[in-house]
Amino acid sequence: MKEQILVVLPHPDDEAFGAAGVISLYTKRGVPVTYACATLGEMGRNMGVPPFANRETLPQIRKIELEEACKAMGIQDLRLLGYRDKTLEFEKPEDVADTIHAILVELEPSLVITHYPGYAVHPDHDACGAATILAVSRLPKEKRPTVYGMAFSKDCREKLGEPDVTINIEEVATQKIEALAAHKSQTTQMMSGIQEKLKAGDPDTKRWFSQEVFWTYHFND
Ligand SMILES: [Zn+2]
Repeated sequence: MKEQILVVLPHPDDEAFGAAGVISLYTKRGVPVTYACATLGEMGRNMGVPPFANRETLPQIRKIELEEACKAMGIQDLRLLGYRDKTLEFEKPEDVADTIHAILVELEPSLVITHYPGYAVHPDHDACGAATILAVSRLPKEKRPTVYGMAFSKDCREKLGEPDVTINIEEVATQKIEALAAHKSQTTQMMSGIQEKLKAGDPDTKRWFSQEVFWTYHFND
């Protein structure tokens, strides 16, 4: 089966935080990765440090940052789905699923990466994950790709168990750092501390750049 990865997440930078390593490993092997990003994160409160964006310019700035991040991860196919930030939860899940379903039919991905609905903290994350699951569930069983869910709510391990997928990303740690840094308006301050933390051997930071974990989503029917 031909490999093709589809990443469906709501905000520019979700991919960098949770899946930049895995994405970079695939693109490094020549596997095509498509990123369907649902919004431009235009309601974000961070405007850069010192601020270089404002409410009007933020969407365009985040779009350019996202394109830079995609370059860092080797993503050649970026799809902007055009939903409004912070309102994804108010869209009809069926409608969002229609959009994602069309991409699934077009690309026939072997693996889909999205937020694990109910365990992804932000309402947009949960809504995007739920719409993606709904879209995949519409495919005939034998045509469904594997779905990796990203979960990080406080109760995710208690409710879902330990993640069944752990991927060593050490060889692409640099790409992950570059992808995060590309989202300048959101990450500049955070990134300035990361290099020092890595040097000091901070265990959480080290883990962040050495492995990524996912929960395989299991469909009921
Ligand atoms: Zn997000």
